[in-house]
Amino acid sequence: MIRFDSVSKEYPDGTVAVGGLEMTAPTGKITVLVGPSGCGKTTSLRMINRMIEPTSGRIWIDDRDTTTMDAAELRRGIGYVIQQAGLFPHRTVAANIATVPMLLGWDRKKARARALELLERVGLPTSFADRYPSQLSGGQQQRVGVARALAADPPVMLMDEPFSAVDPVVRDQLQDEFLRLQGDLGKTIVFVTHDIDEAIKLGDQVAVLRVGGKLAQIAEPARLLGH
Ligand code: ADP
Ligand code: ADP
Repeated sequence: MIRFDSVSKEYPDGTVAVGGLEMTAPTGKITVLVGPSGCGKTTSLRMINRMIEPTSGRIWIDDRDTTTMDAAELRRGIGYVIQQAGLFPHRTVAANIATVPMLLGWDRKKARARALELLERVGLPTSFADRYPSQLSGGQQQRVGVARALAADPPVMLMDEPFSAVDPVVRDQLQDEFLRLQGDLGKTIVFVTHDIDEAIKLGDQVAVLRVGGKLAQIAEPARLLGH
């Protein structure tokens, strides 16, 4: 479980991106943060892995206060996927996927085997292992981004508009595959999107934010007001 306990973020220029957020993302579920551009979704997400430090408040993962944890240790337990997969262009697909395992000191063989296993999991042929990211379509790169985030089997996944940059047909496919994958893996996921349809499709729980980073409502998709 991830719990925001009165979390605020004010940027140095005085912008209040997140204002006293109280929210829980349950273990093993997909919690979607949705809302208009600038409502503090990305800021909220990045405070979970401490790419951004809150101005005040605490974020708990289970019984641990992340704000007092060693950031490197914290991030080992958190996969992170962004909109433009953010793959390393000069590393092969397998090397990209194995990034975290290699940092953790896995031997090469084991890391490669894990990369091949994950390629299959995200619906790509293992023959892609030795390609470079530029030799993949946008949708395929996103799949590799998901595989890379899963490599060390983190219990928590943070996903920031992971499917927004691909065309609608591929997006639909990626969403379906993602739901199937999550059905097997049961990660604790916080997923950011500005697209309410995507939020309703993917979320076990949907948190609607409004500008200033305040919660307008949080509910199961079927119980969202106005839908
Ligand atoms: P969202 O992801 O919902 O679009 P963000 O979390 O990116 O929202 O941004 C929330 C607010 O904080 C916006 O007003 C944005 O302009 C502002 N903001 C984001 N990053 C910074 C920054 N580094 N410095 C100042 N303001 C920022
Ligand atoms: P999409 O419709 O999914 O965006 P693309 O038109 O980008 O697909 O690519 C179609 C197919 O061609 C994909 O299987 C992709 O892996 C392959 N492909 C694209 N660019 C290259 C390349 N530079 N080298 C080798 N294969 C490529």
